[in-house]
Amino acid sequence: MLAYMQNIYSFSKFHNSLARMDRTHLLSDQDEAHPGPSCPAGSYADPNAVPNDGATAPPADLMPVVPGYESLGPNVIPPSNFGSAQPEAPSRVPERRFDIPAITEELAHEAFIKYASSKCCYSSKPAKEMVFTDLQSLNTYRYRLETFTESRTTEWDSEPYNGQVVDGFGVAPAPWSIPVPIPSLFQDCVKSIRVPHTSTVKGCHSCLNLGRSACSRCVNSGRTRCSHCGGMGRTGSNRCSLCQGSGMTRCHSCGGVGSIKCKTCKGQGKLLCFIKLKITWKNNVYVAVIDKGSGFPVELLDQITGEKLLTDMAPMVYPVVSFPDSSVNAASESAVREHQAQFVTTCRILQQRQTIELIPITRVHYVWNQKTHIYFVYGTEHKVYSKDYPAKCCCCSIL
Ligand SMILES: [Zn+2]
Ligand SMILES: [Zn+2]
Ligand SMILES: [Zn+2]
Repeated sequence: MLAYMQNIYSFSKFHNSLARMDRTHLLSDQDEAHPGPSCPAGSYADPNAVPNDGATAPPADLMPVVPGYESLGPNVIPPSNFGSAQPEAPSRVPERRFDIPAITEELAHEAFIKYASSKCCYSSKPAKEMVFTDLQSLNTYRYRLETFTESRTTEWDSEPYNGQVVDGFGVAPAPWSIPVPIPSLFQDCVKSIRVPHTSTVKGCHSCLNLGRSACSRCVNSGRTRCSHCGGMGRTGSNRCSLCQGSGMTRCHSCGGVGSIKCKTCKGQGKLLCFIKLKITWKNNVYVAVIDKGSGFPVELLDQITGEKLLTDMAPMVYPVVSFPDSSVNAASESAVREHQAQFVTTCRILQQRQTIELIPITRVHYVWNQKTHIYFVYGTEHKVYSKDYPAKCCCCSIL
């Protein structure tokens, strides 16, 4: 039986874990802020990239009702005919002992000396002179479940109409029946496509079909206050040479016309409106680190690679049941259950992948200067964590 206390430290994260694993040494908040890897653009240019008045399509109440598309908007469309995938049989876990000490005394010593010399204010004396009293294996498991999902939303969109083909006849296919190839498994991506047979031509709501809208700089007058005299008509005692004393000059924005080309319809006065299907692929990650309650800060393990004990990939995975450490089985069960509950009604679960990693951690007890201290050696990289290094100067701020 397991005598030590076991805590499960778990958290769900919505980001690309593959990218994260590739740059474990550089992980920072800044990295998280970057979008995921780029994915192929949609079948037409992103309307948001086109500067316009912010209105991309006429108000919804001006638009026809398309059967199967009665309620458009930001809410995801529940997948149809899904949830029928059955989990595969439990995967076999390799049988072996995981409780053996992770490293030898020589390795632990070497790692400690390297650690001390990497800190500018640490004396290397304790690391060199210390005497081992005990090495304990605290090998830790990291369970990870990735659920790769696809969700779909629909909304009206438009582009300026200048005589292009209008695909407006026929029955629009249901949102989930439109085949869209998956760009890449376990990678976040967004794509937009036009729903067939939903196109219609409408007058532009921004300019009331005129193709032009009022110049906001001169408020339709075509003239603005003279920049040279500030509208006074005079500079000192002289008549302003720029506006000839009128205080007004021709508006630069509209060239004096008082109106500008409508940004929504690009001057066409008409819009080609259509229903846009937005497809979002997301890799949802659940991580559980089985902490042995050893005082080791488990968050340090985020940047550490472990030894892969199990990788199991299927459209729907079965929770791990036969792992020697029952906490891992429990973590797997709650991860699978949580992701099922979270995604099955709103997304299509395309693929799941679960992994179990063994992360070697060794707790080292040693004596230096007649006092006992502790440090940890962790990860296949043999990193060192020490809370109470015995000889460091107080000015040390680089940790
Ligand atoms: Zn002037
Ligand atoms: Zn103007
Ligand atoms: Zn317009």
